[in-house]
Amino acid sequence: MTPLAHVQIVRFLGIPVHNVDSREALQILDAFIRERKPRQVVTVNPEFVMAARRDAAFRDVLLHADLSLPDGVGLLLGARILGTPLKERVTGVDTVMRVAALAAERGYRLYLLGAAPGVAEEAARRLVQANPGLTVAGTYAGSPAPDEEDAIVARITAATPDVLFVAYGAPKQDLWIARNLARLGVPMAMGVGGAFDFIAGRAKRAPLWMQRMGLEWLHRLIHQPWRWRRMLALPQFLFAVIADRLTRR
Ligand code: UDP
Repeated sequence: MTPLAHVQIVRFLGIPVHNVDSREALQILDAFIRERKPRQVVTVNPEFVMAARRDAAFRDVLLHADLSLPDGVGLLLGARILGTPLKERVTGVDTVMRVAALAAERGYRLYLLGAAPGVAEEAARRLVQANPGLTVAGTYAGSPAPDEEDAIVARITAATPDVLFVAYGAPKQDLWIARNLARLGVPMAMGVGGAFDFIAGRAKRAPLWMQRMGLEWLHRLIHQPWRWRRMLALPQFLFAVIADRLTRR
């Protein structure tokens, strides 16, 4: 039986998202790593869904990902509008931390690719500190530029990790993984956006009460106001989901 046999899929404007909570997500990721077939994991949020409408290559990656985690309160709202509620948000940064704990227990090797120079190293240092026994097979900032791709793939394959986290921001990180997954030979690769910045302490996460109230986006808007234009994706997404629902009645 595949690790996803009983998981419900909710579609947002055609883009699939798996209805899993963080515990189930971790069990599926564990199964992926043990099965050792290369698998791609994406963390879908409203920006992803809206970007996929304009970008056919990104859409294709989202349609073919092996696991699509529900990231962002906008998806939870959208799912309620559709009448198919999602269990909870499963964010990239939380997943990185949970996988690190699992990896320390099971002996899985992690590789951290992307973010500004020094950030992946600092994130790795903190993950090892929090999870004694964890093996980080490598860290590298690199860049998503096509002319660096062969050299980066060579570095990663030489390090033989079980898990690859890529922090080049969406959609670059997810396109990068899709292009290289087969030749990387890594059982599980996942795009994680700004997760290394949070773990390394370079960016501050919203306080827990804000996260619980679904206000992490507001915290982000206050601390990174230049993202406002991108964040318009949230109301546009909700509007498009409602319109889609009404026209399909
Ligand atoms: N980044 C990078 N190289 C690039 C573009 C981005 O390493 O060419 C990193 C950046 O330093 C940050 C992450 O990718 O750590 C993107 O974070 P963001 O929160 O913007 O992710 P998104 O919301 O776009 O997924």
